[in-house]
Order: sequence, then structure tokens, then C-alpha cells
Amino acid sequence: MADLDTRYNPKLEEPKIREFWEQQGVFKFNPKSGKPLYPIDTPPPTVSGKMHIGHAFSYSQQDFIARYKRMRGFEVFYPFGTDDNGLATERLIERLKNVRSKHMTRKDFVSLCLRTLDDLRPAFVQDWKNLAISCDYSIFYSTIHPRCQKLSQQSFISLYNDGREYRRKAPIIFCPVCKTAIAQVEMEDSERTSTLNYIKAKVEELPEGNAYAIYATTRPELHPGCVGISLDKEGTYALVELNRLDPETQQAERWILSKEGVEKFKSEFKKDIPDMNLRIVKEWKGRELIGKKVQIPFAQHPVPFSHDESAKTEYGSGLVYYCTYGGLDCVEWMTRHPEVQAIPIMDESGTYTLGPYKGMNSGDARKKVLEDLEKMGLLIKKEHLKHVVNVHERCATDIEYIATTQWFIRILDLREDLIQWGRELKWYPQFMFHRYENWAKGLKWDWCISRQRHFGVPIPV
Ligand SMILES: [Zn+2]
Repeated sequence: MADLDTRYNPKLEEPKIREFWEQQGVFKFNPKSGKPLYPIDTPPPTVSGKMHIGHAFSYSQQDFIARYKRMRGFEVFYPFGTDDNGLATERLIERLKNVRSKHMTRKDFVSLCLRTLDDLRPAFVQDWKNLAISCDYSIFYSTIHPRCQKLSQQSFISLYNDGREYRRKAPIIFCPVCKTAIAQVEMEDSERTSTLNYIKAKVEELPEGNAYAIYATTRPELHPGCVGISLDKEGTYALVELNRLDPETQQAERWILSKEGVEKFKSEFKKDIPDMNLRIVKEWKGRELIGKKVQIPFAQHPVPFSHDESAKTEYGSGLVYYCTYGGLDCVEWMTRHPEVQAIPIMDESGTYTLGPYKGMNSGDARKKVLEDLEKMGLLIKKEHLKHVVNVHERCATDIEYIATTQWFIRILDLREDLIQWGRELKWYPQFMFHRYENWAKGLKWDWCISRQRHFGVPIPV
């Protein structure tokens, strides 16, 4: 008792306790003990820098269970691993070594990563030891170790043999900064201030004469990739006259929008367009307009009006324009309209490859297209709004949907099974099951497993 300090100093005392645990092999897994086995499958922490408070929080919770089970007489199998084949690790190495993986050969970058990880790993693992996480650190694995790579590759091959995998050119979620495909789970929501832009586009060969279709978009930069404009075939659409002259015909300018939209536009647009005063001169059922072509500005060719379930006369102008790809709604629209050919306009660096905005990224192209539309007299109103966009969780960049060739694991047909399997587990706390269930119900894509990166498990093809 005499050598106990009056003040407890963890910096002095904890190393002694750790050393004792280590010498006694307290956390050592003994497969021959004959005790009932209690294995814990830890999610290996991502080597992305130093341990953070979130790690400390979640690993402590697991550790309470491990220690409790040991005390209850179980043989706890609790190995420790690091997840270091991910994008986070690639980013870390690029930052630490001030390199860009894409500017190096794959071989050089991979060997730089492996060397750097060997340097980083001991200190990283030490953080877990310092926190007294009671793993058996002698059973160590790393997700980039050859054995783990081999396991992943074997799993790839067996899924392929089961017909669960396929490779195809499909719209995928893509991060233009990380320059890689990402999975749905790697996205998060972020609020952006932007403008909803109301645009007019000339309708061709209308027996009633010159008229413009009115639609709104937050992504006007995608005009060169426009593939369609949809309406509700059962809805009522109106031809309206404005109190101003159409510069082309020197007669009253005329717009086409849903009848419900007319009243809304009258009140909401009054301030911006004082000479609007929309007067209805004709009404149609949406279906009567189907097939009439619209000269969408900057589009590759005129696109016909089509019916689509997403177009509702009570929303906006009742007309919706679709591009490849303005977002998930466009991807889904394309699957409902298989007759329409995609017009890919963006490459894998997030750069436009077609039309007047070739060479630009989305941000620059958006500014330029709005200036151009304004000059052409086709931008009728800009409405400031806050809206939620999907961003890549790692870098907070707005994601894009582009068509690339990727490998997918078929999972959408397993949605009901996934939920059923989830029901068979015990969840603590219970509401986490509902979170899981919502995730499974919300799955919209098969699982894209390929990435455009240097450091990772090579696909065995
Ligand atoms: Zn990113």
C-alpha cells in the first residue's frame, strides 16, 4: 500500500496493468480449453489516420460483451484486424506522401501503400491496446494481406459460379473527385443552395402555331444529354398567351403547361414576369400532345413528349425533362422508357464530353449554360431554393450518375430474404432492425463491387 500514489495517474498505472494482462495471456484464445466458444466478428477499423472518439465508443461497447462472456466461462475468440484496402487508406497514403495514385504506376503505388501501412499499423493498433480493448492481438489480420485477398477472390468466383454476378455498362453512382464508382451506402445527404431554373423550349410543328413547352430543372448543365420530356397523359394541359410578343412570330408569345400550373404561375411569377398574364386559348388532354417534338436547347435532337408516371400536373409546369443522368429519377425514367437511347455526356473524371460545355465540370457548366440560356431568352425565371443532394460521404462531393462498365452482385431479388434473415437475428437495441429493414426495402440497385482504384483486392477476371 505504501507505494500507491495519493493521486491515480492512468499514464503510470495503465501500462502496468496492460503488461500484466499480456504476460498472463488473459485475452489469449485457447481452442483447446474445452469451454463453450464465443466468437466475436469485429468490423476491422479502417486505417485512415488515428483512432477517433467514435472508434473508442463503439469498440468499448463490444469489449464489455467480450469481457462479460469471458467471466461467464466462455472461450472468447476475439481477433484483431485492420481494414486497409479501402479508399480511405488510399486517400491517407496520398495525403501523407503527397502523391496521386493516378499519376503513378499501379505497382509503384501499391508498394508505397504496403510499405507505409507497415509503418503506420503498429501505432494504430497500439491505440486499441491503450484503450484496453481485450482482443487477442496475436491473431491479427489485415484486409489487404494476401490471405484476405485470396478469400475475397474465392468469394467472387463462387458468387460468379452461382450466377450472382454480372458485368455491364450501366449508370452507376460516381464520385468525380475520387474518380471511382461508389455504392449506395457510401452516399449521404447534404443541403445545397441552388436555383430551380424555369426554361422554355420550342414545340415543333404544332397545328396551333408557335408555342414553348415550360419545364424546370436544377441541373440545366445536362441539357446536351436530354433524352425526353414527359407529361401526364390523363392530365389537362393548356396553351396560354402572354402579354408580350414572340420575337420570332411577332405575335403573342405562347406557352404550354398544365392547367393547374397556369394558376400557380400567375400568382408565383407575377413579380418576375409582369407582362405574363397567362390567357388560356386552348386545352388538351396530355395524351393528345404525346409524340410532338420539343427543341430542348443544346440537346442532340428534338425529343418527343411522352407519358410518364412521374409527371404530375400539380407539380411545377406538369412537364418534366430527363437527361442521362440528372439523378436517380433520370436513371429510373430510362428503365421505364427502354426505347430511349442514353446520351452519355460525362466521362469518368466528371468532365463533359459533348456539346458546348465539353471539357467543363458540372459547376462551371451550370454557370455557363444559365448565362447562355439567358442570352437566348429561354431562361424565364430562376428560383432560389435549398435542396438535398447526394454526396460522397468521404469527400462531400456531389455525386454524378454516369454509365460505365462495372461488376455487380445481384441482390435486388433477395430483398425479402434479407429482411427475413434480419428477423432471425437478435437486435440490440430493437429499433436497429427497423433501420436495417428500411435499408433493405430502400435498395434500388444491385451491389456495385468494382472500383476504379489502384489499391485494393484485384478482381480475379
Ligand atoms: Zn469522393
